[in-house]
Amino acid sequence: MLAGKKILITGATGLVARTVAERLAEHNEVWCLGRFADPEPERRFRGRGIRTWRWDMTRDGLDGVPDDFTHVLHAAVERGTGDFEAVVAVNSVATGRLMTHCRGAEAFLYVSTSAVYAPQAPGHRYTESDPLGTESAFLPTYPVGKLATEGAVRALAVTLGLPTTIARLNVAYGPHGHGGLPVILHRQMLAGEPIAVPRAGGHHCSPIHTDDIARHVPRLWAAARTPATVVNWGGDEVVGVRELMTYVSRITGVPVEFRQSDVTRAVVAFDAGRRRNIAGACETSWRDGVRQVLDAHFPGTAAACPDREVLHRDH
Ligand code: NDP
Repeated sequence: MLAGKKILITGATGLVARTVAERLAEHNEVWCLGRFADPEPERRFRGRGIRTWRWDMTRDGLDGVPDDFTHVLHAAVERGTGDFEAVVAVNSVATGRLMTHCRGAEAFLYVSTSAVYAPQAPGHRYTESDPLGTESAFLPTYPVGKLATEGAVRALAVTLGLPTTIARLNVAYGPHGHGGLPVILHRQMLAGEPIAVPRAGGHHCSPIHTDDIARHVPRLWAAARTPATVVNWGGDEVVGVRELMTYVSRITGVPVEFRQSDVTRAVVAFDAGRRRNIAGACETSWRDGVRQVLDAHFPGTAAACPDREVLHRDH
C-alpha cells in the first residue's frame, strides 16, 4: 500500500482513474486536475479530502499547481473527432507540460492504449515488442494521438530524468464514468442496436476491472525507469466480444444482435507476462466483474438475475 505520498492525477473524473484516486486518497494527499464539467465527481472528491484544480489541457499551463508531487498518474485524454493535428498537439503538449512541471517526482505513469498495435493474425497475444500501427476505422485520431504522446513521454522521461512507466491499457470496465466496453455495448443492446463484429477472425480482448487497475497503479509506479518502462496493462483472462456480450445478454435478459462490419472497435488480446511480473495477478474475474458493473450502472438488472437462456441473433 502506498501511504504518505503527494499524488497528482489527471482524468480522475473518467472511468479508469476515479477508483484509483479515491483509493489512494485514503492514505495519501491526492490532487485531481480536470475541467469538472459535471459537478458530481468533484463534490465526491472533496468529500473524500481530494484537492481539485481546474485544468483544461487544450490550453492551460500549470502555474499555481504545486510542483512537489511524488507520483503522477496521467489518464486524461482528448480522443479527437477527426482533427489529427489537434489531437496530436493537445495530448503531446499537455503531457510535456505536466512532466516538466512534475520533473522532481519519484514516478510518472502515462496511460496509453492497446490501440497502438498494428493488427496481427486472429488469436495473437500481443507483446510489448509487437509492431506498432495506428489505423483505426472506428476512431481514427485516437491511436495516432496516443502513439504521438508515447513519443513525447519517452523523450521527457530521458531528458528530465523522470522515472516513467507507459502502460498500454486494454479494455477497462468499472462502476464509474462510461463504464467501459460491456456497459457501452449493453446500452446499444437496450436501444435495440446491433453490435458490430469483424467479418472474419477473432475479436478478443483482455478486460480489466478498475479495482485491479487501482491495485496495480502503485506497482506500475514502482516499475518506473528512465528510459520509460513499457507494459501491456490488461486482465489475466482473454475473452471474445461475442462471448462477453452473450454473457451480458444471459444475465440481463436483454437480447443481443451481432452484425458483421468493416468498422468495429479494435480490441486485442494481451500476453500478460510482463504485467504479471510487475504488478501481480488480477483479483476480479471478468464474469464476476461484469455482473457487478452492470448492477452499478443499471441497478437491479444483473445482480438479482439468475443466468437466463441466451438470446442472440447473428448476421
Ligand atoms: P474517460 O473518457 O472516461 O475520461 C476522460 C478523462 O479525460 C476525463 O477525466 C476528462 O476530465 C479528461 N479530459 C478530457 N479532455 C480533457 C481536457 N481538455 N482537459 C483536462 N482533462 C480532460 O476516459 P477513460 O477513463 O476511459 O480513459 C482514461 C485513460 O485510459 C485515457 O488516457 C485512455 O486513452 C486510456 N484508455 C482507456 C481505455 C478504456 O477501456 N476506457 C482503454 C485503453 C486506454 P474532465 O472532463 O473532468 O475534464
